[in-house]
Amino acid sequence: MKKAIYRRILLKLSGEVLRDPQSGECLSDSVLAEMAKQIQAVRKMGVQVGVVIGGGNIFRGMKGQDRGFGRAHGDNMGMLATLINSLALQSALEAAGVPAKTLSATAMPSLAELFTFRRAIELLDAGTVVIIGGGTGNPFFTTDSAAAL
Ligand code: UDP
Repeated sequence: MKKAIYRRILLKLSGEVLRDPQSGECLSDSVLAEMAKQIQAVRKMGVQVGVVIGGGNIFRGMKGQDRGFGRAHGDNMGMLATLINSLALQSALEAAGVPAKTLSATAMPSLAELFTFRRAIELLDAGTVVIIGGGTGNPFFTTDSAAAL
């Protein structure tokens, strides 16, 4: 097995990568399963893995604005899309036997724990893959900003 250079990484995934290349459906089971496999391989090298995932395969705020939604509503819808993707990836990881947890930038207690830096580190240190959903929790940003933060 290769020796890992990094102890902890943050993987930023665009939502578009989850789209099924054949059917065009927004979530591909085979892509999700392949991602889970690759993340597990990295984890097995002793690397802690955090994931920030986008929502562009489902909804982007700008697209909503073109259709007459207010920008803030559209962006909130985009952030919800990132949570859909986060839960889909969590589910694929769990199905592959990988401990994974979604932390949400926005309080949604019945769906996911609220993101705090301390909680994310605690989970990462315990070997859990941490998926950060909901971007920054603020409209007018993207998940790239969340990943950079
Ligand atoms: N979004 C937002 N604030 C954030 C993160 C995301 O308002 O902090 C909204 C925004 O509308 C964005 C959408 O969620 O277009 C989906 O995120 P992103 O465009 O980053 O997804 P990706 O292109 O990575 O799939």
